[in-house]
Amino acid sequence: MLGLAKRVKAKIFQASTSEVYGDPQIHPQPESYWGHVNPNGLRSCYDEGKRCAETLFFDYHRQHKLRIKVARIFNTYGPRMHPNDGRVVSNFIVQALLGEPITIYGDGAQTRSFCYVDDLIEAFIRLMATEDDFTGPVNTGNPGEFTILQLAETVLELTGSKSELIFKPLPADDPRQRRPDITLAKEKLSWEPKISLREGLVPTIAYFDDFLRKQ
Ligand code: UDP
Repeated sequence: MLGLAKRVKAKIFQASTSEVYGDPQIHPQPESYWGHVNPNGLRSCYDEGKRCAETLFFDYHRQHKLRIKVARIFNTYGPRMHPNDGRVVSNFIVQALLGEPITIYGDGAQTRSFCYVDDLIEAFIRLMATEDDFTGPVNTGNPGEFTILQLAETVLELTGSKSELIFKPLPADDPRQRRPDITLAKEKLSWEPKISLREGLVPTIAYFDDFLRKQ
């Protein structure tokens, strides 16, 4: 893709990830943080793959003046997520709506910061419209940070579900905490998320409710 972008002189976007920070030892995470990634663990294929992709993007930018835009996307949710992709927001909503147990991995004290999809897309549009000398990487995410237990309780409340919480083993190398420092996005994109987790969960739950009724 980088070769193609070079040939046709296109501006190219990389959907990078907060996973480049691994299990972070700095909190919240600014773009200047180099991360804390296990190079050969269960998640490494994804983390290191994205890190390598960033390297290639910046090499093409330096060597060929390719116009690149790199966004580090933090946990995102919203309507049209796949019900079986295993991510926490979709898992919990589907489990709550079906009255099945809510599967908490570990003790649920680990945190994530959840960004509603519409906010994220707005950040992308603004990033693509920045001057060519702004490459990123730029954190795109919602700094509102919640424990997984808090997420489960909020989903139960908003769905009115009576599902029980069950605790399963924490997957290896699961980050303990994650929250974006979005100072750079505020400065360069004049952007910050507008939709809180509670607000964003309402249309997301409505989507899955409709989806499950049609099954
Ligand atoms: N998680 C959970 N139950 C689930 C799915 C995920 O407790 O059914 C936890 C998972 O261990 C992690 C967090 O929720 O701590 C976010 O997981 P997800 O896969 O959505 O995103 P990522 O770990 O890539 O941030």
